[in-house]
Amino acid sequence: MEVQFWGVRGTFPSPGKDKTRYGGHTPCASVLSGSGEVIVVDAGTGIKDLGDCLVRERGEGPLKVTLFLTHFHLDHVMGFPFFAPLFIPDSEITIYAPALPAETERYLGGLVAGKYFPVELFETKSRKTYLETPRGSLELGGVKVTHCRLRHPQGGFAYRFEEEGKSVVFATDTEHPAEGVDEDLAGFASGVAHLVSDATFTPDEYRSGKQGWGHSTWLEGTRLAAAANAENLLLSHLNPDHGDDLVDGLAASAREHFRRTSAARQGLRLFV
Ligand SMILES: [Zn+2]
Ligand SMILES: [Zn+2]
Repeated sequence: MEVQFWGVRGTFPSPGKDKTRYGGHTPCASVLSGSGEVIVVDAGTGIKDLGDCLVRERGEGPLKVTLFLTHFHLDHVMGFPFFAPLFIPDSEITIYAPALPAETERYLGGLVAGKYFPVELFETKSRKTYLETPRGSLELGGVKVTHCRLRHPQGGFAYRFEEEGKSVVFATDTEHPAEGVDEDLAGFASGVAHLVSDATFTPDEYRSGKQGWGHSTWLEGTRLAAAANAENLLLSHLNPDHGDDLVDGLAASAREHFRRTSAARQGLRLFV
């Protein structure tokens, strides 16, 4: 699989001179299977560059894309109206989410409608299919997809994508229990090659009134990676108030606890 990060910033898109290395777009990643299946995780502002890239590389013809939404918080869906394949006739966009199909259509339709956007979602030219992420696993072009519930306000899913024994787990937007690592999530991520983990807060910030906000620290990321026996840890869902130098520092601190750690950055490509 080829995994690419199009946005790694949590909460709010954050351009700025001190965000050039890790990037300011909100969460979006693509997972390309060996057979060429295009899988997308989340529709933050990074999805615009992904859509434009797909059109450039594959021409103006219809595209087939499967989008997995972790949840509907704005940072994870705000790029959706600007995803170019939406507007390409006969493109097929399948959307899995932790909600009933009609709810997903209503939530996304609310963004591409009314006073917010010049056209309504149902007027866009692509064919859209809304599906609730199934309980067990599903298979897409040779990639096995599973999910795990996260501890986050209004809920959310972590996703695991696996092909030929190699896997990547996206587990942002989650808070670990006070007593330690979320054991369900550690089990879900067991043996993963690349664990993408929530690093919204520093441990100091977390202790200073951010408990209950549904997010994690780099330190908990290292504990999760160790408990899951992950090969590599990627810190993501970066804080909009954390500049590049601060992110460098927290990644270095994390490496003292889990050696194979780096911070995810916009544009990073992994061959899994
Ligand atoms: Zn988020
Ligand atoms: Zn969230």
